[in-house]
Amino acid sequence: GAQVVDRKTVLSESDCLLMINALRPEEVSGIKKGSIVIGHFQPYQQKALIDAFRTSNVASFSLDLLPRTTLAQSMDILSSMSSVAGYKAVIQAADHLPRFFPMFMTAAGTIKPARVLILGGGVAGLQALATARRLGAVVEVFDVRSAVKEEVQSLGGKFIEVQGSMESAAAGGYAVEQSEAYQQQQRELIHNHAQKADCVICTALIPGKKAPLLLYAHTIDSMQPGSVVVDLAAASGGNCELTVNNQVIRHKGITIIGNSSYPAAMPLDASRMFSNNLLNFTKLLIDPNGKFYLNFDDEIISKTCLTYNGLIKHEAVAAFYEKY
Ligand code: NAD
Repeated sequence: GAQVVDRKTVLSESDCLLMINALRPEEVSGIKKGSIVIGHFQPYQQKALIDAFRTSNVASFSLDLLPRTTLAQSMDILSSMSSVAGYKAVIQAADHLPRFFPMFMTAAGTIKPARVLILGGGVAGLQALATARRLGAVVEVFDVRSAVKEEVQSLGGKFIEVQGSMESAAAGGYAVEQSEAYQQQQRELIHNHAQKADCVICTALIPGKKAPLLLYAHTIDSMQPGSVVVDLAAASGGNCELTVNNQVIRHKGITIIGNSSYPAAMPLDASRMFSNNLLNFTKLLIDPNGKFYLNFDDEIISKTCLTYNGLIKHEAVAAFYEKY
């Protein structure tokens, strides 16, 4: 039942625009005044776009700002896309690895299971863990958040930890940067475990910051030839020192894959999940009479709103840009 029209018409005539990729800032002036724009805008990297939204008086909602609460789960694009990425990263690692993932007892001898080390046990890391376990690998996970331990164990993984991590309730379940002493211990722990791993899947991120460097060149040099590193944090600088974003490189027999866009490699289910998330969020903005109504008393609406009435509405994003 949808009508197919050109891009300019969609922008200038819609009361509400839903999108995957952010608009170009110069396109925003072509949007109907006062309209609602919903998407994934990565606000900490998009000053020009935010300025354009403000100037054009657009009510913009960035679903990467969504609070990570139970109520908001059905709208959580980051969770959906991270699940796709964690799954696909393991599939690609298995494809590049010159050995089996599962243990095999064959007439030609016993094949040991592959060992997978996962750095970061958030949504992508836990999906990678579950996928690698289904393929029969032995999996270890490292994270700075102690809450991850139980989740890792319940999925059949081993949690490796450094004592004394800094955690902040204000970070809303996300990680915060760690002290120098902690990072030193972390480097040694990861070095020791990576040496024994066939695959390392890097998923560690800190919102609004460069991804933490966890896998150093000297650690890669000490890994077994044929091993595979998949770095999902590549677009944010990478967890691995040698990662090149959007490239597969070979370094002393180790394959290093820098890829932060796995959802694009599994478009059917990624799109299904993304569109359901957008639809569930949009329903929140519609009142019982079928009219758009922005109820800023609703935590999900207020915390996801990026710009409204010519202002940056999101407190943390506003504070971020005031610094510069
Ligand atoms: P993320 O993508 O921001 O980061 C991925 C992981 O990297 C996190 O687990 C983080 O702790 C870890 N990390 C950061 N720095 C690290 C370092 N130096 N070393 C090792 N690990 C490091 O996180 P995410 O996947 O978006 O999830 C963030 C949190 O939100 C998690 O607690 C997750 O369970 C929670 N969550 C809740 C809901 C919900 O309740 N609706 C939905 C999704 C996620």
